Amino acid sequence: MDTMTLWDQALEDLRSRIDRESFSTYLEPVRMVERRGDTFVLGVPSEFNRSMLRSYLHQLEDALSELIENDAHIEVTIDQNETAGGEDLGDGFSESERRALHVQSQLPGSPIVHCPLNQNFTFDSFVVGESNRFAHAAAQAVSDPHSMAYNPLFIYGGVGLGKTHLMQAIGHKMRSYGEHINVLYVSSEAFMNTFIDAVAQKRLSEFRNCFRNVDLLLVDDVQFFANAERTQAEFFHTFNSLFDAGKKIVLSSDQQPSNLQQLEERLVSRFECGLIVDVQPPDLETRVAILREKAEASGVRLSDEVSIYIAERVKRNLRKLQGALTKLSAHALMNDEVITIEMARQLLGPFFSGEEHVKVTIEKIQKIVCDFFDISVMELTGANRSRQFARPRQIACYLCREMTNSSFPEIARKFGGRDHTSIMHGYRKIQKDMVKDPDLQNRLKYLMKTIKDGPGR
Ligand code: ADP
Ligand code: MG
Repeated sequence: MDTMTLWDQALEDLRSRIDRESFSTYLEPVRMVERRGDTFVLGVPSEFNRSMLRSYLHQLEDALSELIENDAHIEVTIDQNETAGGEDLGDGFSESERRALHVQSQLPGSPIVHCPLNQNFTFDSFVVGESNRFAHAAAQAVSDPHSMAYNPLFIYGGVGLGKTHLMQAIGHKMRSYGEHINVLYVSSEAFMNTFIDAVAQKRLSEFRNCFRNVDLLLVDDVQFFANAERTQAEFFHTFNSLFDAGKKIVLSSDQQPSNLQQLEERLVSRFECGLIVDVQPPDLETRVAILREKAEASGVRLSDEVSIYIAERVKRNLRKLQGALTKLSAHALMNDEVITIEMARQLLGPFFSGEEHVKVTIEKIQKIVCDFFDISVMELTGANRSRQFARPRQIACYLCREMTNSSFPEIARKFGGRDHTSIMHGYRKIQKDMVKDPDLQNRLKYLMKTIKDGPGR
């Protein structure tokens, strides 16, 4: 694929994921300047555009990485002789800056925080089953701008059960009632970081303006406020100010409020004064329905057999449904094949045996891989590149990436502090070899099972 086609495809990928206004403001002015290996150089008209592009760099890099099947990096330069759309309007703002400022000024209080909603997380795409019926009904009730029922709404449940999806669906729905309705979605981490920055930059009043002038505030994963005392105090005041003004608040967490022991009591008691609903792991039928919904949305055809094969294996974290689907459809597309049950078994087998891991650590994986290949941990993490050690190392890296939430640099640190790109190559090598090598597949399956079932860490 030539560079321009790659770029167009990456843009298309993002277009489907972010709202139209942000796309045209932040991404349309961006130009592909050149490709140097896996580095893509992008050009933007101004420093302002460059800073606004920052929130999308990860998504762009992910999209490009998938296309080139390698880790893509992005560099952003400022176009020197930008002419199109860059005419000077006399006050120093280019047209594209003006557009960006316009969008920003529609956000409550200015560019202090910007967390766009995921376009795919709507009520239309949310599948209702026994496990989430009550939470869904409550979310819909809260989305009615004329009703003040259930304030605050507190949604809790395990990872990947649809909390963020439901919250953002409320956001989309409220926004659909008109531009004048201010909706702000933030993760608790974004709230915290923005607060810390605001304190550091002496922009506290701006911060308060931003968070206290909304009609609906959605705060995701409040368990991460744990131990952040100042942030909790600030959030307590934000909460009260919105609540007293009759504005809506929706919160999510992995636990019900009474179990959030690291949070101040006064905050917990505020969380408890509205409605508390939970989302449970869905039954098989609902999981199949969710998978079908996702497949349809991305134009992928799945037979019933394949749908059930996947849904039977993804029991808790529904994010894995999307992961499985992406893996299959990418493979089918690249090889120009239709998705069959054999393909699903072959590609997803090891992927599923890594499902439902609870506490797998890098150290545990290293130890089990060393036992299996009869080498020492020093040899595994050392510098010797002979195949006797290099292959187990690649396998261990692969398992660390698949079975823990560690990033490549984190894994690299525990493998003798080598460069993270070498860890990435090891990972990709195994990923690639696995498809053609049943022997390797069996080894991986065996290792994954031992790691999961084995005692201790
Ligand atoms: P959580 O915030 O609870 O960790 P998410 O809301 O991010 O989980 O959901 C994980 C993935 O599962 C998302 O892709 C989401 O769209 C999908 N998902 C979860 N529940 C449903 C549902 N009931 N219908 C459709 N998709 C769902
Ligand atoms: Mg979430």
